Amino acid sequence: MAEATPTPVPPGRPAPRVVVVGGGPGGYEAALVAQRGGAEVTLVERRGLGGAAVLTDVVPSKTLIATAEWMTIADRAPELGIRTVGQAGGDPSQGHEVLLDEVNARVLRLAQAQSTDIRTRLEEEGVEVVDGVGSLDGPGCVVIDPADGAQQRRCDADVVLLATGATPRTLPEAMPDGERILSWTQLYGLTELPERLVVVGSGVTGAEFAGAYQALGSDVVLISSRDRVLPGEDADAAEVIEQVFRERGMTVMGRSRAVSAERVGDGVRVTLHDGRVVEGSHCLVAVGSVPTTADLGLEEAGVRLTPRGHIEVDRVSRTSVRGVYAAGDCTGVLPLASVAAMQGRIAMAHALGDAVQPLNLGTVAANIFTAPEIATVGASERELAASGTRYVATSLALARNPRAKMLGMRDGFVKIFAHATTGTVLGGVVVAPRAGELVFPLTLAVSHRMTADEVARSFTVYPSLSGSIAEVARIVHQRRL
Ligand SMILES: Cc1cc2nc3c(=O)[nH]c(=O)nc-3n(C[C@H](O)[C@H](O)[C@H](O)COP(=O)(O)OP(=O)(O)OC[C@H]3O[C@@H](n4cnc5c(N)ncnc54)[C@H](O)[C@@H]3O)c2cc1C
Repeated sequence: MAEATPTPVPPGRPAPRVVVVGGGPGGYEAALVAQRGGAEVTLVERRGLGGAAVLTDVVPSKTLIATAEWMTIADRAPELGIRTVGQAGGDPSQGHEVLLDEVNARVLRLAQAQSTDIRTRLEEEGVEVVDGVGSLDGPGCVVIDPADGAQQRRCDADVVLLATGATPRTLPEAMPDGERILSWTQLYGLTELPERLVVVGSGVTGAEFAGAYQALGSDVVLISSRDRVLPGEDADAAEVIEQVFRERGMTVMGRSRAVSAERVGDGVRVTLHDGRVVEGSHCLVAVGSVPTTADLGLEEAGVRLTPRGHIEVDRVSRTSVRGVYAAGDCTGVLPLASVAAMQGRIAMAHALGDAVQPLNLGTVAANIFTAPEIATVGASERELAASGTRYVATSLALARNPRAKMLGMRDGFVKIFAHATTGTVLGGVVVAPRAGELVFPLTLAVSHRMTADEVARSFTVYPSLSGSIAEVARIVHQRRL
């Protein structure tokens, strides 16, 4: 992740003492920025550098999904004239077997290596890294209980950054046992592919894992309490994903709230609110996260929490207590690693007196790693409609793109939201394989307030998927004439 470096502390002035609690992207990026800005920095982490992002969430899930992506590509092989040797016809995925123990070993190796890299980098830069649990003892002091059982330490601090993240939400009637009923952090202990995986929750995490396990070869049932999967996302994009899921053989159960999951012999039984029962070999519970804000001494220090238990922050990451900042999932601002890191960097720039640009969620780019992926940037259609903005929404199916045809890609589209009067690009959605990469031209357009005409006038490679972005921009131009 890119870093902003605050202006170093002028010579002669004592280095400010900064203590960071939590070593995920919200914490470690900030620690590096503060150290480079001339502060004396201690970072305390109770589990492993990189946080949940590196050890259990982003890195492991995206590494697993990388394997799933190859299986999805293999599915298209016959259309492109490839037959798996030794296999006459039939389902091409039958020709490839996923060895989940090897996949998961690779996932865990990669995550651990990245965590080690982060520790090395912090230490090389001069950040003091302490393995242990930190909590506030009043606004200007962090108490550290070291993991090695050494004596408790008190660290006085001019600036404290709380970046303690979040953990999976559990349902009392569906408590994970780590074997058959699982939270997403426990999936990497599996040594064999679940025969029939019941995924409870169709938000981003549920949808990503449901899609990945289906591609890896499991039979998947996705239980959604809402009308459709990915209820918070662009409706057209969610519709494409749900349709693709169904076409690939996934059972998607809409308007079906799971109330319990119990282990029955070698399997699980999931009961829905209307009494229906879904059976499977394993159940993944993916029903959101809870912020890690208990036992941090927040109330005693006067740090205000929201009704949902997140730390209340403003756009420069200040909490209600002077000198105490917070970043990342513990703030509930937007649960993305990129946003956590940005909040941490902003906090340090503000605390050390550097120029600060407050957090602007209007330009955030995000990606859902289903197949195809859903990448979004800027304002969503729902936000534009709610704010009364006059906008035009223009989209084009990927199936019309020549490169997509060559690659055998059918599902997906490019959509641009532009201001109806000025033509400024306000937001965009790309549904395509590797949409997370493809969305970048739209990210630039949104960040730099470019007009659709400016996007339309830029060259794109022929043939290319990004050609569809320029083409949609040209249609926006015609629609505004
Ligand atoms: C399955 C999944 C996939 C995801 N994929 C993506 C993705 O592709 N892209 C993306 O941008 N985001 C993704 N996210 C979101 C992303 O993981 C989070 O937004 C990100 O981890 C937040 O970073 P953080 O620093 O706030 O918290 P974390 O990464 O959770 O780190 C917090 C750290 O604080 C430590 N800690 C807590 N309390 C204490 C204490 N008292 N003392 C010491 N240490 C403490 C914890 O041990 C932890 O290591 C995903 C989330 C999930 C669940």
